[in-house]
Amino acid sequence: MRCSPWFALAAAVGIARPAFAQETLAPRIGATLAGLEAELIAFRRDLHRHPEVSGAEERTASKVAERLRALGIETRTGVGGHGVVGVLRGGRPGPVVAYRADMDAVYSSDPDPVEFRSMVPGVRHICGHDVHTTIGIALAAGLASHRRDLAGTVLFVFQPAEERATGALAMLAAGVFRDPPPVAIYGVHTAPFPVGQLATIAGDMMSGRDRYRVAIHGEGDRGAATAAVRTRLAALGTVAPAEILRPAPRDLVLVTPPQVAESAGVTLLSGTIMATSLSRPAVTKGMREIGALAQGGTVVTPRYQPKTIAGVFNDSALTVRATAAAEQVLGAGNVVPVEVIVPAFSEDFGSFQDLVPGVFFFLGVSNPAKGTVGMPHTPDYVADEGAILVGARAMAAVLLDRLGRP
Ligand SMILES: [Zn+2]
Repeated sequence: MRCSPWFALAAAVGIARPAFAQETLAPRIGATLAGLEAELIAFRRDLHRHPEVSGAEERTASKVAERLRALGIETRTGVGGHGVVGVLRGGRPGPVVAYRADMDAVYSSDPDPVEFRSMVPGVRHICGHDVHTTIGIALAAGLASHRRDLAGTVLFVFQPAEERATGALAMLAAGVFRDPPPVAIYGVHTAPFPVGQLATIAGDMMSGRDRYRVAIHGEGDRGAATAAVRTRLAALGTVAPAEILRPAPRDLVLVTPPQVAESAGVTLLSGTIMATSLSRPAVTKGMREIGALAQGGTVVTPRYQPKTIAGVFNDSALTVRATAAAEQVLGAGNVVPVEVIVPAFSEDFGSFQDLVPGVFFFLGVSNPAKGTVGMPHTPDYVADEGAILVGARAMAAVLLDRLGRP
């Protein structure tokens, strides 16, 4: 087949690509990813063998940067600790969208139930961040292979210190979104439902974590005031602390019982609250009312610090579109709604979403046929490696869909 010399010239300088290029990109990237599966699994197993905890992701970051640079992607390292940022500029004009992967592992001395077991005593990837990072590398490889047809720019955000919930804010402080600023951000987290499926929901998807501190001072009966504050704090909760692993409605409030300390005539009660954006106004009001509990010569001063961990809040319009794009790749019914929130888990992905609208997905990694379950932070956590291509293909479609709609 021949083409016009003018078209060849335009293509050579990266302009005026034919309109059909973007529409056919998702299947072509899917085919590229399928050819890379063995290499991607090897990359993931290498990360799994060499897990690094929050703040110590030096080797992981260097492996990520090495891959990005080998793909010809503009790469910045040391962004907010061991954070790595890749910027892939497509051959055609378009918006900037971001994919975020977290890279850190978890303290655990239980034996790894896989043959590529952790070689670092006391540290394991039992939260699946090795899978999230590999999906980021897969996306970078798949999209870079077709960069001339890509309309826009993809920002790859490889985040450190998610388990400590400090990495997202550190990367933001280091200017991760400054150049170029994205219009949307996406990410995934492994979850214990079957491989082949994703799950998400518009609005609150994971609770944040807030802090409270109540100071009681004065000459009155501090014991009585302390009891009253305890009662009022407990009444704010809609979920009992004993039910922390049970799914709860999306307006949950979980109040940890306060730690009580006495110092220099002041009684201090402090603890955490897990709340969603739906429930936070009620918590804010309740905390303010605790200040009115002063009685009999005591003064009660509450301090409430919301979102010390941001949680996850998905943009409604983006969620509708991202769900449709992912479902096109995975098949109808394979992007399921998240109906409830498990209060034990949270995420700092929401720190990015506080600045840029985005969508977070749970990625199924359990394999019922093999009897493996991917419940994060449990000793027998196993992520089925089929989830790498599932996540990468779905996220490629989601990113392309957003790039295709200025
Ligand atoms: Zn995690």
